[in-house]
Amino acid sequence: MADENRAEIVGTPALDGTYIAEMDMWPLECQEFNRLYPFYDNLREGKFTTTKCKKCGYVAFPPGVICPKCWQDELEWVELPKKAKISTFTETQAGAPIGFPPPIIMAWLDFGEGSPVKRMLGRIINCKEGELKEGDEVKIVVFDIPSHPIEVKRETKICDRVFYAFERVK
Ligand SMILES: [Zn+2]
Repeated sequence: MADENRAEIVGTPALDGTYIAEMDMWPLECQEFNRLYPFYDNLREGKFTTTKCKKCGYVAFPPGVICPKCWQDELEWVELPKKAKISTFTETQAGAPIGFPPPIIMAWLDFGEGSPVKRMLGRIINCKEGELKEGDEVKIVVFDIPSHPIEVKRETKICDRVFYAFERVK
């Protein structure tokens, strides 16, 4: 098998270096497949962004291609704060999906009054069980996720992918 047909899934030893696209839970991020590709391009540059409606001013998260308030599609990209405070959280110890070593920590993040998005649900990484506390400050972390070959205009290419989570500010 050629090298480009193999990719690694982090934390999924059962798959042993093979890639099963049906089990891929991450979005295709390149321009040919995803109208929200600027979100991922911005992440790659270290910017955390979302879409704002040019007509009514509503800021949505996650970003979208139409405004959920007034249903029009003239949107612009705005930057969000990179830090937030933990409002409340859950830690999952058992039954985590394949490729996600426990604990899986999901938190309501408080971005403060000055932010265009006040609160959102986010994943906390690089944190041991029992370590996180309400009120802790967290910052965004951008990390690489596995990619796999896809057909783009009859050519096979691999689009690099990233995603984000949050970690404690120490
Ligand atoms: Zn709107």
